[in-house]
Amino acid sequence: MNNYLTPNFAFANMIPVHAQGSRVWDQAGKEYVDFSGGIAVNALGHCHPVLVDTLTDQAKKLWHASNIYTTEPAQQLAKLLVDHTFADKVFFANSGAEANEAAFKLARKYAYEHYGAQKNEIIACVNGFHGRTLFTVSVGGQSKYQEGFAPLPEGISHIPYNNIEALKNTINERTCAVVLELVQGESGVLPAQVEFVQAARQLCDQYQSLLVFDEVQTGMGRTGKLFAYEHYGVSPDILSSAKALGAGFPIGAMLTTDKVAPSFGVGSHGSTFGGNPLACAVGCAAFNIINDQKTYENINKQSQALINELNVIGQSTGLFKEVRGKGLLVGCVLTDQYTNQAGEITKIALEQGLMLLQAGGSVLRFAPSLLLTDEDRQEGIKRFEQACQNFLSHY
Ligand SMILES: *Cc1c(COP(=O)(O)O)cnc(C)c1O
Repeated sequence: MNNYLTPNFAFANMIPVHAQGSRVWDQAGKEYVDFSGGIAVNALGHCHPVLVDTLTDQAKKLWHASNIYTTEPAQQLAKLLVDHTFADKVFFANSGAEANEAAFKLARKYAYEHYGAQKNEIIACVNGFHGRTLFTVSVGGQSKYQEGFAPLPEGISHIPYNNIEALKNTINERTCAVVLELVQGESGVLPAQVEFVQAARQLCDQYQSLLVFDEVQTGMGRTGKLFAYEHYGVSPDILSSAKALGAGFPIGAMLTTDKVAPSFGVGSHGSTFGGNPLACAVGCAAFNIINDQKTYENINKQSQALINELNVIGQSTGLFKEVRGKGLLVGCVLTDQYTNQAGEITKIALEQGLMLLQAGGSVLRFAPSLLLTDEDRQEGIKRFEQACQNFLSHY
């Protein structure tokens, strides 16, 4: 089935061909409920009519102009992001890794310009995930993604997540940035504690370090607020966004303040495709649908229902020791007996007609459409329960 692509992906044994809302159909015409959302990307489900119209309208106007010119869609999306967040300025990229690459480079450049070359150290968290470029994989705290790619960029240290003491003991005058996910998404859907995030802000201020939130997965409504930092009452100096920002069209963004942005002077950083008008037009349309009271109400309602239903399944099957997360980013932590079985359960779920994610080996991850309906949720849960039963009967 896969003769032409490099072997770094373990593709599922079905090929999706078309989709609508929270339903997907494969080559054989089999239908699936989508609780994976393209890994927290398809925030408005598949083929949302407003996004399809926006994309096709823009396709008839202007596809690409390069960064020698700015475009109306890029200006409009940047304004939306600035008007609704802590930020004053936006840099557009094409992916989460690129948004983070820009964030880390900017943090280094800012420290270099204001305090000197020795202030270059980045503190990040064990089990953090920030992308797969060499710099982002080095800031990421998972050695399995770094193995074989040395020499890695230097000046990066890792502390245990949610550990204030470790942060206090590690931060110093040479720290240029502290980088955090507000929910560790890829490694297990683990939310940050309020005290930890507040301490990070306070320590960054004390040491003139920049606080960077990687909201590639948690941003754009996923947790029930536009960005997850709103839950914490703490603003970063730099924030990265991607995944849901284009609701399925590739785009990333780095947001920052007027204090920090000048360190990205003319020529200091760039991207050929960043700010692409197709991506930004879709981003604007997605933003307006996501940042709507009705959508936030649905996220919170569906989140509560999903978590309740997963807890019921957890109790009846004994499969989970915890259901955790925020908004529509939910994780079921498998009991110790079923360690490393998340991949097996997602496989069985797929057979059952349910697209599901894992987050590490022992957590099942749910990242459905923010417009999920009762009907689709209930059908997905029914298939999930069946998948759990099938797993247990073979285990
Ligand atoms: C997915 C993800 C990334 C990487 O995004 P890409 O678009 O795959 O480069 C970075 N950080 C977090 C928190 C993510 O979830």
